[in-house]
Amino acid sequence: MPMEATVRLASFLGVLMVMSIWEYWAPRRSLTVSKLRRWFCNLCVVFIDSFVLRLAAPIAAVGVAALAQQHHWGLFNQVSLPRVLTFGIAIVVLDLAVYLQHVLFHAVPILWRVHRMHHTDRDLDATSGLRFHPIEIVLSMLIKVAVVLLIGAPPEAVIAFEVLLNATSIFNHGNVYIPRAVDRALRCILVTPDMHRIHHSIERKETDSNFGFNLPWWDRLFGTYRAEPEKGHERMVIGQRDCQDERPQRLGWILRSPFLSRKDF
Ligand SMILES: [Zn+2]
Ligand SMILES: [Zn+2]
Repeated sequence: MPMEATVRLASFLGVLMVMSIWEYWAPRRSLTVSKLRRWFCNLCVVFIDSFVLRLAAPIAAVGVAALAQQHHWGLFNQVSLPRVLTFGIAIVVLDLAVYLQHVLFHAVPILWRVHRMHHTDRDLDATSGLRFHPIEIVLSMLIKVAVVLLIGAPPEAVIAFEVLLNATSIFNHGNVYIPRAVDRALRCILVTPDMHRIHHSIERKETDSNFGFNLPWWDRLFGTYRAEPEKGHERMVIGQRDCQDERPQRLGWILRSPFLSRKDF
């Protein structure tokens, strides 16, 4: 297995394992539905997403970054800046792109249909951070490829960003208790579980806040930041108002959900 794939897999499994142990020892909320069914559903989604992505985008963003470097495409491949600077800027720009994409997926009805699957999870835990519809995964990859081409992001920055985003997404969906003072300090540099949980509220105004996945600055900068849920973290309801039943725990239903008419949803 090439080094890059080993790093990706080790980080994914390592963070998932640490978060699961943390969730067991210090949960933030009690769960409302069967963890086994949710985990089965969400982990099946991971396998399906990886398979679809391999088929739909075999060279992926990192391959495009290498190609751009070879052919001097994109901003950073035209100017000569210190490597550490291009690396850092590329990661920040890619993170901004993910934030803007997330806002777009909430604002455009057809995209919301696809993204809604992420929001139908009725409990939040580390595996919720992996629950994205394959169509969203492919669209995200295309957007990322466009950004990589535009800025000429170095391949190593793309790998670092993807590993980081995967790890922070698992972390910030975690059902873990973090003391308030630590959470406040962490929120200066990272989206914390308490910050992202608000985004999964059943209340639409709360769903349309805290779009960041990695850096918390964009929500503050663009006015989409919300510090606390109205009902508090223990009492807030998670998921979508019109599917507070067993459907979000069924793999077939969640994969079909973007195509269902409103009355079937
Ligand atoms: Zn969302
Ligand atoms: Zn989420």
